[in-house]
Amino acid sequence: MLTFACEQENLNVNDVPQDVIDQLTEMGFNPDGIERVEGGFLIERDIIITPEFLASNPSEHRVPGLEQYSTNNLVSTNGNRVITVYMPQESSGGGGKGKKGGGGGTFDADMNAALDEAISRYNGENLEISFARTTNSSNADIVFTRLNKRQERQGILGSAGFPSSQGDPYGEIKMSGILKSSYNLSINGIATIIKHEMGHCIGFRHTDYFDRSISCGGSASNEGDGGVGANHIPGTPTGADLQGSGSFMLSCTDGSNRPFTNADKTALDYLY
Ligand SMILES: [Zn+2]
Repeated sequence: MLTFACEQENLNVNDVPQDVIDQLTEMGFNPDGIERVEGGFLIERDIIITPEFLASNPSEHRVPGLEQYSTNNLVSTNGNRVITVYMPQESSGGGGKGKKGGGGGTFDADMNAALDEAISRYNGENLEISFARTTNSSNADIVFTRLNKRQERQGILGSAGFPSSQGDPYGEIKMSGILKSSYNLSINGIATIIKHEMGHCIGFRHTDYFDRSISCGGSASNEGDGGVGANHIPGTPTGADLQGSGSFMLSCTDGSNRPFTNADKTALDYLY
C-alpha cells in the first residue's frame, strides 16, 4: 500500500541544537524526525514550530485520549471572518523550470482546482470562518508556496503551522506541486491534502496525534501534546480509526479522497 506522510520521516536531528530538542521534549513533543527548516523546526511530520512559538512558553493544556483535537490558539473570528488565500498560478503557456520549486514556484491547473475544491468544502459547512481566494499575495492571510524540488521528489506532501497567539491563521502552506504528475492523485485526493494543511493553519491537530501508527503504520508513536494543546473537541467520538475514509486530519493519507466525516463536521462547527 502506498502511504504518504504529510512530511518526510526523517530522523536527521544533526542540525537541531540539543537544547531545542530538550525544550520541545519538555513541552511534550516527540522529537523523532525533528528537523530544522526555513521558519523554524518541523515536528509531527508537517507542522512548523517557529522561534516565536518556542519563546512563548505556552500555558497549561490537557491531553485527553480522544478524537478530534485543537490547539489552544484558534483564529479569532468576531463572528465572521474571511480568510484570504493566495496560490500562484502557472501561466497559460505552462510553467518554466524555475529554480525554486518545479514550475517556477507556481502551481498548475489541477492544484488550483484542488484548492477551489478544498475551499468549497470548508465554505459548505457554514462556519464563522470562510475562505476566499485573492490574486494579491501581499495581503493574503495564507500564501501557498512550493516545496523545493528535492522535497517534492522525496514525496513530501506539504507543511503548515498553527494559529498565532494574536488569533491569526498560520500564514504559509508549502505544497508539493507534483501530486498529480508523479503520484497520479485525483483532484479530490489533492484537495484532501490541502484541506489538511489548512486545518493546521486554523488550529487542528492530527486526529491520531496520540498514536500516528493508526494512519501511518509502523510502531505506535505519540506526537505529544506539544504544549500547544491537544484539546478534545466535545461531541466527537473516542479513538481514531480508519472507518470510512477516515478523518481529514489523520497524520498519514493513502492519497484518497477524505470528505469531512460527521466527527470532522462536529469539530469544525464547535471551533468555528
Ligand atoms: Zn498534518
